[in-house]
Amino acid sequence: MDLSNATDLLKDRLRQVRERITAACARAGRDPQSVRLIGVTKYTELGWVRVLHELGVEDLGESRPQQLVQRADELPDSIRWHLIGHLQRNKVELVLPRVEWIHSVDSVRLLERIREVAEKNSLRPRVLLEVNVSGEAAKDGFSPAGLRDAWPRIVESTPVEIHGLMTMAPLDADPSATRAVFASLRKLRDELAAMSGGANPLPELSMGMSGDFEIALEEGATMIRLGSTLFEGLPAWNTTGRAV
Ligand SMILES: *Cc1c(COP(=O)(O)O)cnc(C)c1O
Repeated sequence: MDLSNATDLLKDRLRQVRERITAACARAGRDPQSVRLIGVTKYTELGWVRVLHELGVEDLGESRPQQLVQRADELPDSIRWHLIGHLQRNKVELVLPRVEWIHSVDSVRLLERIREVAEKNSLRPRVLLEVNVSGEAAKDGFSPAGLRDAWPRIVESTPVEIHGLMTMAPLDADPSATRAVFASLRKLRDELAAMSGGANPLPELSMGMSGDFEIALEEGATMIRLGSTLFEGLPAWNTTGRAV
């Protein structure tokens, strides 16, 4: 396989995903332009990541701070990097200068650490608060009740900008349970926005992955995080005839 065939493969995947986004938005009476597609690259070789960006995907997500920083060093500066996985407080300094968005702020202590590092480095990071809507024990995130309690303290987070909420549906959930999780996140967002008297409208809802993004779009997602539907089953990069 040569590189142009490889590019066509990924181009085709991307076209299919965009068609599905458009169709889901049409069902929900939404503008597809209001949705940000984040290409999740954590399991993908660097060469494929570069092609995805060349095909016009400007938002890329990584789960691990080290891998994000390493790839941000190797790829064009025009990429907007999203950290979507768990962030330890001792990695905030490493990752903060390189990310545009952090989706996975799951405690007040982490938020305070981000605030400290942001102040010291004159940065204004954009964050989403991760919520464990389904209450699974193994999952990170604020509980909905815990987030309501902490909200008055969280709101005062300057220079960190809190733009919204993020969640993941349980892996084995059926479509109606998945929809209920996404709808709960939206309602929680509406509630928190009302608590701050509209001063913090929390416009972003980061929800939906390869298996459930259409449901998420119907429930109001503004950011969807897609990995496997773009990349799964593509051939190894070293068979494409181009160096990374
Ligand atoms: C890996 C990951 C994704 C992408 O999952 P796919 O099912 O491969 O699309 C999205 N969000 C988070 C938080 C992830 O860790």
